[in-house]
Amino acid sequence: MRFDIETGRFKDLASGGEKLAVVGSDRSLTWSAFQAEVEVTADRIKALGLPAGHPVLVRGHKEAGMVVAMAACITLDHPYVPLDLVVPMERVQRILAITGSQLVIDHSGDVFPSTVAHVLDGQGALTRHQVAASAGIPFRAEDPIRYIIFTSGSTGEPKGVRITREAAAAFLRWMTSDFGFGANDVFVNQAPFSFDLSVYELFTSLQLGATLLLNDAATAKDAAAFLDRVKQYHGSVWVSTPTFAYLYLTEPSFTGDQVPSLRSFLFCGEALPKVTAQRLLDRFPAARVLNTYGPTEATVATTLIDVTREVLERYAEMPVGFPKREGQVRTVLPDGREATKAEPGEIEIIGPHVSIGYLNNDDLNAEKFAEEEGQRVFRTGDYGWFQDGILFFNGRRDEQVKLNGFRIELGDITAQMLAVPGVADAIAVPLKSGETVKRIVGFVRPAPGAEQAGLIEAINAQLRLALPAYMVPADLMLVDVFPVNNSHKTDRKALIDLYMARPR
Ligand code: AMP
Repeated sequence: MRFDIETGRFKDLASGGEKLAVVGSDRSLTWSAFQAEVEVTADRIKALGLPAGHPVLVRGHKEAGMVVAMAACITLDHPYVPLDLVVPMERVQRILAITGSQLVIDHSGDVFPSTVAHVLDGQGALTRHQVAASAGIPFRAEDPIRYIIFTSGSTGEPKGVRITREAAAAFLRWMTSDFGFGANDVFVNQAPFSFDLSVYELFTSLQLGATLLLNDAATAKDAAAFLDRVKQYHGSVWVSTPTFAYLYLTEPSFTGDQVPSLRSFLFCGEALPKVTAQRLLDRFPAARVLNTYGPTEATVATTLIDVTREVLERYAEMPVGFPKREGQVRTVLPDGREATKAEPGEIEIIGPHVSIGYLNNDDLNAEKFAEEEGQRVFRTGDYGWFQDGILFFNGRRDEQVKLNGFRIELGDITAQMLAVPGVADAIAVPLKSGETVKRIVGFVRPAPGAEQAGLIEAINAQLRLALPAYMVPADLMLVDVFPVNNSHKTDRKALIDLYMARPR
């Protein structure tokens, strides 16, 4: 039995009903039980009479019911907006304002603003508010939106990436043909559902009729508990950022002998250090290490490579892989020439898996997306080059960074610091070791005459209110003047030097 993401229907019903479909942080569902719950939830949603294609917020943290809710939305061609609890309520409200959603399927127990007409909780109980009907977003009958994932935006407004049925189907054709996974696999989840990395294990396990093993944040932090769970459920495909796996490499029991069910490590979202891949191959000699690359705007991932020992030996840098067959990737220089290792160019992704653009953000869509011979193009802002038909990644030239795999626009943090009374100027700066961001530091210039006592606490309070925890700077520092470099821009390096020299 399996759930087909393209049609939103359960298929191959004759067998596999007793197998586990979803192991949530709270309870497990067999495929038969999962199907029954999806149907009940879809009926409940239908009874609300929402306009066709109305977006539905799905909030919680790794409950089996979140998967039920997302599948029910797919069945009805309602886009779902996954919101993990790592996203604080203030940001949820901004997302509600952008989507106009009038239904939240909630597993958090949080109180939602009364602009939301319906809140359906994990037990099926419904809370209603009287509000004027909102159409939400236009229904795209020919290619309905499957989900909208919100990522950090440089101006402080989150950006809603719309992924349609066609894009999801193209992604799944690649996943189910090129990755070597099957219905007997158990996909080990770690990333929150608001991070598109989680679409890997969510969509692939549903599409293949496999098992999805969800792990909450507390379990993921507790190595013994996490590895016990992986062993208990025979987890076979580990999906995470490289940082998460790297942390597990300090665990002596994280080996192929101790966890023999793990056969594949699937990475995406940030650079995979060669040392991480090498150590995993040493610890798990029978397993594959798969590096994949791609932004949320091109449905999870676009390139793939099996990182074997030969690959590690042959290339000085870590390759990010071969483009998927249905897509096309190019690295272009401003004058149109193809990039080289000596002269990396911007990575552009073309194909059916590219998003139709950000929700209600025409200006940014015009800048980042294009159309070429009927195909969608996304200008990633990443830089790279090709060698032997394989893409290599060479960082970015803008203010977007990755911290433990989470995508962060530094301007998003800066905007929140500037919103605090008494702040004259502020900037979020990454502290790096080599190319890896280790932490983010917020520098603040207080307004003349502003009360400095309590300013740091006030900024921290605002940041925690408005941003996911992973975006809140590890440290804040008050400075009298922002140093300026030769190009008359704020000298970030000088600020970091100041920070490193601070009295401790
Ligand atoms: P996200 O939209 O959160 O998946 O972040 C996408 C961004 O993460 C890309 O545009 C790259 O900057 C970075 N990224 C994703 N995968 C890789 C990878 N395998 N190696 C290096 N950077 C990556």
